[in-house]
Amino acid sequence: MTEVELVAVMGGSEDLIERAYRTCYRSVDSSNKSDAFIVKCIKRGHLSPLEFASAVFKVRCSRAASHQIVRHRIASYAQESQRRTKVPYEYVLPPAFRNASAIDMTGVLDLMHQAYTLYEQLIIDGYAKEDARYVLPTAFMTTIMVGMNFRELRHFFKLRCPPEAQWEIREIAEKMLDKIYRIAPNVFEDMYCRFILKDNVSLWTEAD
Ligand SMILES: Cc1cc2nc3c(=O)[nH]c(=O)nc-3n(C[C@H](O)[C@H](O)[C@H](O)COP(=O)(O)OP(=O)(O)OC[C@H]3O[C@@H](n4cnc5c(N)ncnc54)[C@H](O)[C@@H]3O)c2cc1C
Repeated sequence: MTEVELVAVMGGSEDLIERAYRTCYRSVDSSNKSDAFIVKCIKRGHLSPLEFASAVFKVRCSRAASHQIVRHRIASYAQESQRRTKVPYEYVLPPAFRNASAIDMTGVLDLMHQAYTLYEQLIIDGYAKEDARYVLPTAFMTTIMVGMNFRELRHFFKLRCPPEAQWEIREIAEKMLDKIYRIAPNVFEDMYCRFILKDNVSLWTEAD
């Protein structure tokens, strides 16, 4: 089971984003129209002002999923070191395994247990953690801090929230979207409606 915590939001109250947009268009500040204003600018495909706001999430997931997350380059990361810290006995299994036969499931659970037992034994025998970790399956858990600006978050959600995305990163992306929508509803409303509420709405722009 993945865990997502929203650790920090910088410039995310939408005031800063609106101010950036209004700077571009030399538009006077009119707070009663601000929601529509931000949405209109995003729909136009003008996305760079979204880079002024960013968010940091702490994610607990499998090493398999974290490898997919770090493929996103417009981001900052801090990941628990498997060289310096001992990996805990925690792993993630696909929901599809809930329907696995007893024989298959026993095989999976035995493998996890045997791999971890060997990992611990190698450390006891004097091998460095960075070497012992090679026997662990990618199902084992990791913790990673992920920092992305709002423009990159929209791009990330667009790729990772649709049904065709891999199930674990989709679960993570949906949890991130659910949390950041509450901070910046005007920036993420289309994605929240489509990916969280499952409404049949189009995304505002294909240019994210
Ligand atoms: C459904 C799915 C299946 C995938 N399958 C595979 C797979 O089989 N094998 C595999 O290796 N990867 C796979 N990936 C990962 C994918 O190839 C990307 O590495 C990952 O999604 C990051 O996306 P990105 O490069 O668009 O975004 P980011 O790295 O988040 O970058 C955001 C945007 O910035 C721009 N940008 C960033 N860096 C550059 C650059 N150097 N030059 C020009 N523009 C840049 C691009 O417009 C990019 O879209 C898959 C991803 C998805 C969603």
